[in-house]
Amino acid sequence: MNTTSQKKSGSAAHKLRERVKELSCLYEIAQISGRPAASLPEILQGVAEALPAAWQRSKNASARVMLDGAEFCSGAMLPPDRGRIEPIMVRGECRGEVAVGYPSLPPDSVPSFLEEEDRLLGEVARQVGLIVDRRETAAEQERLRAKLRHADRLATIGRLAAGVAHELNEPLGGILGFAQLLAKTPDLPDQARADISKIEAATLHARDIIRHLMVFARQTPPCDKRVDFNRLIRDSEAIWGARCAAAGVQLVYALDPDIPEIIADDRQLRQVVTNLVVNAIQAMPNGGSLKIETSRNGTWIRLLVKDEGIGIAPELLPRLFDPFFTTKDVNEGSGLGLSIVHGIVTGHEGTISLESTPDCGTAVTVQLPIHRPPTHGESHEQA
Ligand code: ADP
Repeated sequence: MNTTSQKKSGSAAHKLRERVKELSCLYEIAQISGRPAASLPEILQGVAEALPAAWQRSKNASARVMLDGAEFCSGAMLPPDRGRIEPIMVRGECRGEVAVGYPSLPPDSVPSFLEEEDRLLGEVARQVGLIVDRRETAAEQERLRAKLRHADRLATIGRLAAGVAHELNEPLGGILGFAQLLAKTPDLPDQARADISKIEAATLHARDIIRHLMVFARQTPPCDKRVDFNRLIRDSEAIWGARCAAAGVQLVYALDPDIPEIIADDRQLRQVVTNLVVNAIQAMPNGGSLKIETSRNGTWIRLLVKDEGIGIAPELLPRLFDPFFTTKDVNEGSGLGLSIVHGIVTGHEGTISLESTPDCGTAVTVQLPIHRPPTHGESHEQA
């Protein structure tokens, strides 16, 4: 072989080696992203670690993947002007970048990059964008599936509860009526009178549970009016004010006077506030401060109900909105309060979230849209 053909085959072998490195890098990235158990940060870290091997001077190369401000590096951080950078685009939006360079080169030397390396970096950035898109779409689908499962379960339980409540209401009314009649019998022995009053109390408690069941099962769309939310909260204090005072709970209002009126069902919203406040009071058996705050958040109004109570253990959080889930004694709770709140809030196309720290307290945030397309029954009355 003469020198020219030796040179040619040498450069062909070099190109081939480079190409193999690039393909191995892409293959490794495909493998990392295909692992179902790998989280997105783990994948991005894997991509950053797989990249340097594909570069000519792989021992000195280092890579960085940035997504939404979070950084994943293979080695030393890259000075931005000493490497190549490609943006990560997800559904047309720039969310970060992939960069490769040689951080350990002397400051005066200019690093050179092959055309193929630039192309590879562009391809890796494109792949990362697709991985992020796929992961986010899958997470969104799972969230929607969970929402659908929850709504379906609520609807089934709602139908069942409505039937049971209807069947029980009548016999309970009979028990209560006859117990009250009996109590009027003259010269009743004290023991009999005490027993009758126990029957009465138990029946009233059962009726209370049925009332909750009816509210839970009603599942009616909101009957819309214009509602001044601050006024609704102030007016509802009559329902829980005495209970707060008895429990040593101090009400602290932070109502933003500038929140606009919303179109909503005032009775349902009163139920939301009452259920949240009653839960907060029950969470503070030794008293404390209960904050009720309203504010505007863009096109939403926000209600915050925050207590300094016993809080909720993290493992219970996923079950709180399940119907009939309760940690309270028989006479204290039916486990329907938060399910009712959830149903009403989502019926108003709003959102609800809950944060809690055991022994510190719980904060529930409800957001309701200011402009919601009116549903049936809108009357545009003043609340
Ligand atoms: P209930 O109050 O009848 O038990 P809910 O659906 O309103 O039903 O609440 C479910 C459970 O969530 C409660 O039993 C309680 O364990 C927990 N919980 C709700 N709100 C609070 C709160 N503010 N502080 C502590 N725990 C709470």
